Amino acid sequence: KQAGRDNFKIFELTMARDASDQFNFEQTLRQAIQSAHQFVMFYQPKVNQHRELVGLEALVRLELSPGKFTSPAEFIPVAEESGQIIALEELILRLVFAQLASWHHTYPLTPRVSINLSGIHLLSDTFLPFLNQCMEEFAIPGAWIEFEVTESVFLNDIERCIQVLQVLQGMEIAISIDDFGTGYSSLNYLKNLPVDVLKIDRSFVLECASQKEDAKICSTIIELASTLGLSTIAEGVENHAQFEFLATHGCDNFQGYHFYRPLSVTRIDELLATTLEV
Ligand code: C2E
Ligand code: CA
Ligand code: CA
Ligand code: CA
Repeated sequence: KQAGRDNFKIFELTMARDASDQFNFEQTLRQAIQSAHQFVMFYQPKVNQHRELVGLEALVRLELSPGKFTSPAEFIPVAEESGQIIALEELILRLVFAQLASWHHTYPLTPRVSINLSGIHLLSDTFLPFLNQCMEEFAIPGAWIEFEVTESVFLNDIERCIQVLQVLQGMEIAISIDDFGTGYSSLNYLKNLPVDVLKIDRSFVLECASQKEDAKICSTIIELASTLGLSTIAEGVENHAQFEFLATHGCDNFQGYHFYRPLSVTRIDELLATTLEV
């Protein structure tokens, strides 16, 4: 009984510490968003079957102290839960658009840059007005950008979702469904969704060259995309066997450590300088 009570105490203490940690991190995040100086964008190249550069994905990092980067996997969920995701993504949009304007100034053939978008933000009333204003401010045409949204967004208000995505497509902005296969996309509404790309989740890519089930899932997604007139990209491609399997089965584009890691702006500058003709 005594031991039981002690266990309970320890449990309570752990809970308390987690809650205050969470609170502290929320505050840290709030300050970082307010000051706007600690978020840094990295960009991961996307390539086609010939390993040519076809796109870049913007991936945010939080630099709390110089050189120490906190992963978005840690702070994006906290931003979503604590009502800060819209402010954070507005900040990210500005950072990406400023960068994009600068790249296009030097390299007119800079490929499309994709930006991850939280469903909360996509469905908010402020999203389209802010986006329009920001595109105007930085003189960014829709054809320069793409949004990556996860399937979970379609569980919310599907009608409204379709409406917003249609507006984006009307602006020539491309739309991809991120982490495809991990959510609950119903095939029935997939055919009516205004999207351009299915992005095969890394969890299926991981063993696609070594496991029958994952191989079949990947080839089925590629087939489905082709039936619907969508293109495919595989994320998390880490070795040649995965690349070869996916390419053989008709996957259009690829992203992963086998080709490039997410790179700093300086490294992307070098890449654009060496791969694009001015
Ligand atoms: P995601 O959109 O699925 O992004 C892909 C993640 O996989 C990135 O992690 C990337 O660095 C990592 N990755 C890329 N290639 C490979 C590979 O070959 N092997 C492995 N093991 N990993 C690879 P990262 O940058 O830590 O981002 C994690 C998640 O955070 C992203 O997953 C995305 O959901 C979210 N995120 C990142 N940036 C943003 C953003 O600006 N806005 C929003 N809303 N979410 C973001
Ligand atoms: Ca993504
Ligand atoms: Ca993804
Ligand atoms: Ca993923």
